[in-house]
Amino acid sequence: SLTSSLFGDLLDAVKPGHVVPVLVPLPVPEAYSYAVPDGMMVEPGSVVQVPLGPRQVLGVVWDGEDGFGGDPKKLRPITLAFDCPPLSKEMRSFIDWVASYTLSPPGLVARMAIRAPAALEPEPMVEALRYLGGEPERMTPARARVLDLIRDEVPFTRSGLAHAAGVSLSVVDGLIQQGLFETIFLPPPPVVALPDPDYVAPRIEGPQKQAASELVEAVQAGGFSASLIDGVTGSGKTEVYFEAIAETLRRGKQVLILLPEIALTSSFLERFQDRFGAKPAEWHSDLAPRMREKVWRGVVTGEVRVVAGARSALFLPFEELGLIIVDEEHDPAYKQEDRVFYNARDMAVVRGRIGDFPVVLVSATPSVESQVNGLSGRYHMVHLPTRFGDAAMPDLHLIDMRRHPPERGGFLSPVMLRAVKKTIEKGQQALLFLNRRGYAPLTLCRVCGHRFQCPQCSSWLVEHRFKGQIQCHQCGYSERTPEACPECGTLDHLVACGPGVERIAEEVEKHFPDARTIVMSSDLLGGVKRMRLELEAIAKGEADIVIGTQLVAKGHNFPLMTLVGIVDADLGLANGDPRAAERTFQLLSQVTGRAGRTGLKSHGLLQTYQPQHPVMQAIVSGDATAFYEREIGEREKALLPPFGRLASIIVSADDRGEAEGHARGLRAAAPKATGISVLGPAEAPLALVRGRHRFRLLVHGRRNSDMQGYLRTMLTNGPKVRGSVHVQLDVDPQSF
Ligand code: ADP
Ligand code: ZN
Repeated sequence: SLTSSLFGDLLDAVKPGHVVPVLVPLPVPEAYSYAVPDGMMVEPGSVVQVPLGPRQVLGVVWDGEDGFGGDPKKLRPITLAFDCPPLSKEMRSFIDWVASYTLSPPGLVARMAIRAPAALEPEPMVEALRYLGGEPERMTPARARVLDLIRDEVPFTRSGLAHAAGVSLSVVDGLIQQGLFETIFLPPPPVVALPDPDYVAPRIEGPQKQAASELVEAVQAGGFSASLIDGVTGSGKTEVYFEAIAETLRRGKQVLILLPEIALTSSFLERFQDRFGAKPAEWHSDLAPRMREKVWRGVVTGEVRVVAGARSALFLPFEELGLIIVDEEHDPAYKQEDRVFYNARDMAVVRGRIGDFPVVLVSATPSVESQVNGLSGRYHMVHLPTRFGDAAMPDLHLIDMRRHPPERGGFLSPVMLRAVKKTIEKGQQALLFLNRRGYAPLTLCRVCGHRFQCPQCSSWLVEHRFKGQIQCHQCGYSERTPEACPECGTLDHLVACGPGVERIAEEVEKHFPDARTIVMSSDLLGGVKRMRLELEAIAKGEADIVIGTQLVAKGHNFPLMTLVGIVDADLGLANGDPRAAERTFQLLSQVTGRAGRTGLKSHGLLQTYQPQHPVMQAIVSGDATAFYEREIGEREKALLPPFGRLASIIVSADDRGEAEGHARGLRAAAPKATGISVLGPAEAPLALVRGRHRFRLLVHGRRNSDMQGYLRTMLTNGPKVRGSVHVQLDVDPQSF
């Protein structure tokens, strides 16, 4: 069905007087009909503005017969068509595919690919000054500096000239008044400079050469292919996929690199620049609005050749995309769980198939799904078994916390503290990793046992001692940490249970009062900018001890970091999720992989109460194969993904009974189908979020079952959505 929709005939441009279907950004199943006014030319993919009730909204003219049988004169006309290239047939097929796979309204998927009208206006010309010759009435040192700069017929903007000469604007204005310059208009500067595939010679050696040539061959062969680069941290995977990028650029195609934490990986952009002479354009939620518009336009027109972006970059309408790289493909951040629920890793492969170009997945710890695809030959596997150069993997050891307990009130074993001490005495860095923000995950009253719970969610409030607050990590609710227990009124009897990074920082401070410490978590005041600065400071060796959440785990290269200590290696294992072991293994491998990126000898220490657990054994033995084999075997037995299919349906409502009733109604509407069964409804893992009660149904199917058809039938035959009820579908949920 993919190919038939793909190569269906292109519709002719639609003539005025016709009616066209337009996708609007609403949760409705189909396009709406609009009339094309006289004198307007639109075609499928055209970005338009249309009236919708009292509003004007952005929409896209869509494919297919218009279903409207009535008199076109009764329809509201399209307000305006923007002057930008229409979304390609390829992009439209991709949007349709994602909508039908995720059972999302196509208009909401299309909304991710188009930008607001301002983005569509071309960049204005830049006003600049050019020297006409002649001298000022009176020469001053400041005026001489300005004239020296501009004499060589190089035009400058007014402020650029003042800045370069180190003078105030009034000096330049004085010269303008004397008629020494003329005003000219220059084309706007490019969004980003053009990357050059041959800027420097490829930096690949040994096993990297074979790996790179396999990827380059895939690019040269043309057409769709999926490869998986599986190589330990520091093996040089980035350098290897850079060669596939270079080859794609030589062939005149655009490249998309997906990264899970792009806002924090400025070092990646610099590495790219070292190889290609220019940085890629960035795409993520922290981009300034003006830059966002520039990049979007550059991608559409083809001016931007390479984008490094977060998952949403997958929906950019590239002029001619020729390669997608998905770095850290196992990362849970690729899953969007909001409005349109999609996994960018999986949808990247779909986009490659529709666009007929190669997709490269990259990881030191590939997801079980990608491993299975690699083993079955669906993905081409590329291995890089060792670290590049003289960098060695860290020596990894478990600290059995039952035998080496921390002192009272502490969380760091004496073994860990000794290792930190030795490391910083050598002038090297230690990282203490704990994936928990704040001071303590639970606060209770010692007298009456009262626990602080979020008033609108089923989650405990987390103490943030630096800010003097208790916060809900689900909804962001916060209040000042009370002095007295609200239940029994006792003063000063609140106790913090368990550690967060702030509490570990306090313990470190006690043991190492003279060490320079940095706490890295998303609570840092100053946001992404501050985090980038702190990461740079760490890389430059300006800290001795770093205490951090997973923010420090990803992709960074800290040359002096020779000790990584995991405060609670068991943390992710307890939640009963079938993916818990895999996720914990991936996170621990990634964090310990921060150590020993140079020739220095390095160590990883993991504090655990379950040293025999398969995850701990896999980490210290360095034998991932046995671990994956076991995981894959268990998934296969239980017919869990990728050996079976799952979807979750979350029904939420203001009223608990209403949510549960609707969920039961859906369950009753489930058709009979062999190989598909429905579990639940049961209270969702988070039963209350922002005051809304949540119930969950899990749909489980065999690998080749028609999950989407089944879900559609359930929704059509089930109770009508009314009142405060909301139904959210998640095909391929991350946790189940
Ligand atoms: P990975 O992506 O597998 O973690 P990287 O590509 O980041 O590995 O490489 C690890 C380090 O080794 C980086 O500092 C990188 O610059 C360096 N490196 C890798 N390959 C080469 C090479 N062929 N020549 C020079 N330096 C290299
Ligand atoms: Zn809350």
